[in-house]
Amino acid sequence: MFFDTHAHLDTPVFDSDRNEVFERAQSAGVTRFVNPAFDTVSSARACALAETRPNVWAAVGVHPNDADSVIKNEGCLCDIFRLASMPKVVAIGEIGLDYHWDTSPRQVQSNVFIEQLSIARKTNLPVIIHCRNGVSTTTDNALEDLLAILFDRPWLESRVLLHSFAGDLDQARRAIGRGYMLGLGGPLTYPKSLFTRDVAQYVPLEYIVLETDAPYLPPQKVRGKRNEPSYMPAVAEKISELRAIDIEEVARVTTENALRFFGIGDGLVL
Ligand SMILES: [Zn+2]
Repeated sequence: MFFDTHAHLDTPVFDSDRNEVFERAQSAGVTRFVNPAFDTVSSARACALAETRPNVWAAVGVHPNDADSVIKNEGCLCDIFRLASMPKVVAIGEIGLDYHWDTSPRQVQSNVFIEQLSIARKTNLPVIIHCRNGVSTTTDNALEDLLAILFDRPWLESRVLLHSFAGDLDQARRAIGRGYMLGLGGPLTYPKSLFTRDVAQYVPLEYIVLETDAPYLPPQKVRGKRNEPSYMPAVAEKISELRAIDIEEVARVTTENALRFFGIGDGLVL
């Protein structure tokens, strides 16, 4: 059974066929989900979805692309702090830095990111990180800026999930050295993702979790379509191929990792 650690199933793009999406996921063996958020509205929606489905958990937070607008409109992160104490919230996320779109000034991104790290500390929740580099390898290296912020906070050890990890093997090793988890999804199957395939092949499986990032980042064979959790086996297959292990082992270990990371008991029979 697969655990999709990153699926935006609350978003309106699933409004017309959400039940079918869950049914197809179930048939593909994808039975548990964490639904992360990117602003206050989606945080509330993620919590509402988790309330109605026993196998969905929520993460609440403000994405770096939305950092500026949230601060301008609401002035604080009070709603995120409030929602973080809802019973099915298992993480703060997705939060981080994005130098690709640069839709919020970088200083605002980093302030909002750091403030949400303290919310995670106060609420004793792990964090789901979004990080995307810009074009320049020197001035736009968001991942290095981000790791510096995280490494400065030793209490985050084993409490960080780097979603859609796109760094190289050296950055992966530094991250897992702190007990961080790496989320792998559709991009692993893209022709250009050489670093990501290295990571999937050489990092111990105990540090890897699976994700789709639905509706975004579909695997290569359905690229251009709306992504959904039922496509997750394509990612697991790629990992099993790279590591020369059974896909069942990939499913079992990554699911155990996700349950452990999010502190979800396995009482739920699915
Ligand atoms: Zn996402």
